Amino acid sequence: MAAAGAASLSRISRLFSSFSCRKQRINVKIIPQRRGISSCIDPAHGLTDEQKEFQKVAFDFAAKEMAPHMAEWDHKEIFPVETMRRAAQLGFGGIYVQPDVGGSGLSRLDTSVIFEALSTGCVSTTAYISIHNMCAWVIDTFGNAEQRERFCPDLCSMEKFASYCLTEPGSGSDAASLLTSAHRSGDHYVLNGSKAFISGGGDTDVYVVMCRTGGKGAKGISCVVVERGTAGLSFGKKERKVGWNSQPTRAVIFEDCVVPVNNRLGEEGQGFSIAMKGLNGGRINIASCSLGAAHACVQLARDHMMVRKQFGETLSKNQFLQFKLAEMASQLVASRLMVREAARALQENRSDAVSLCSMAKLFATDQCFNVCNEALQMHGGYGYLKDYAVQQFVRDIRVHQILEGTNEVMRMIISRDLLTDL
Ligand SMILES: Cc1cc2nc3c(=O)[nH]c(=O)nc-3n(C[C@H](O)[C@H](O)[C@H](O)COP(=O)(O)OP(=O)(O)OC[C@H]3O[C@@H](n4cnc5c(N)ncnc54)[C@H](O)[C@@H]3O)c2cc1C
Repeated sequence: MAAAGAASLSRISRLFSSFSCRKQRINVKIIPQRRGISSCIDPAHGLTDEQKEFQKVAFDFAAKEMAPHMAEWDHKEIFPVETMRRAAQLGFGGIYVQPDVGGSGLSRLDTSVIFEALSTGCVSTTAYISIHNMCAWVIDTFGNAEQRERFCPDLCSMEKFASYCLTEPGSGSDAASLLTSAHRSGDHYVLNGSKAFISGGGDTDVYVVMCRTGGKGAKGISCVVVERGTAGLSFGKKERKVGWNSQPTRAVIFEDCVVPVNNRLGEEGQGFSIAMKGLNGGRINIASCSLGAAHACVQLARDHMMVRKQFGETLSKNQFLQFKLAEMASQLVASRLMVREAARALQENRSDAVSLCSMAKLFATDQCFNVCNEALQMHGGYGYLKDYAVQQFVRDIRVHQILEGTNEVMRMIISRDLLTDL
């Protein structure tokens, strides 16, 4: 793993040095700058030199390639395919996928550090990249040699894009009650049913689909890969959303959709377990995206307090607002510690990993939403204007409390663990 990490680092640094020469128009008014971070909230603390390098590459990419466009991507609902492919050139398309199929082979903690940094440039785009990474990891981990070779290299380069298909119109929090059926017919499955709220749906190429091959409950669920262009695969209208506008969300519909049995990942009946294992990492990733937003918003609030004058002095002189900023910074740092601890637990396959991932997702997405919302409040009326990035961070991270398991479902997972007989 260390060798793989070093190789990835040198690849990331090399690609980035040629890439960073390009001149970009930067709108300094809304861009959170990595420079001048107060020491107490510096996300580089506690990281190895190698992790600091990954982080710098990601922060620079966020500032130069994402932040100048995040408002436009949001407003025009642009899915920034070419930007994501450039991110993939830096190794961000398959961060925790194994190197033999094109991945960067990095750890869950490295991944969290990277997604936090990228999110300071655009939460919505980074969140999609995180879902794409989760799909690539699922295929890398549960696919056989042929499947890994067939799908992973194009996913890691983001030549192709992936979607994760679990939720259905009638099964959200109770995901194990899903109804999309996959009946075996010779060496094919015939899929019928529909998936709701699928990130990237309609614009992506590879659909990792949880479907029912057996009886009721979790044990009757399998996981198959459905490729764009398969007869019987279609999509609903693009959903109109509060945030996450740089990525499309659509229903994915299967009508007598014929998929080779060769596209099944793992064994029949293993699908729900695969889906949940993917989501453990997904929850760390989405929480990391919330950290990036909160980090950016603490800095935006601080910068605004230093220049905005009311009652004859800058807001930074007001003790109520000083204390508010201190609370926001504390919530950010506490969230980051939890997310990074959960990432370590998952990496080490510890017995507390599932609960820690759920705790981190619950705590960080709630706290970071609060941080961003308070930052908006500290901007007064300006915070409500689309010229100011703070409102987009608020809109974009609201959904992190809802998806990849709602925060109520996180409470169910944690309390079930606590109340299980030892
Ligand atoms: C923008 C967006 C993108 C998404 N992307 C994807 C994707 O790519 N792939 C995918 O598979 N899904 C995706 N989802 C779906 C998402 O995971 C679900 O919306 C989520 O799991 C909640 O399901 P639901 O919407 O059906 O809500 P419901 O399950 O109907 O829940 C409604 C409310 O009731 C609460 N609730 C339900 N049961 C209980 C209980 N027993 N105890 C306490 N509270 C309870 C919930 O927490 C929630 O607050 C996405 C959703 C959104 C909004």
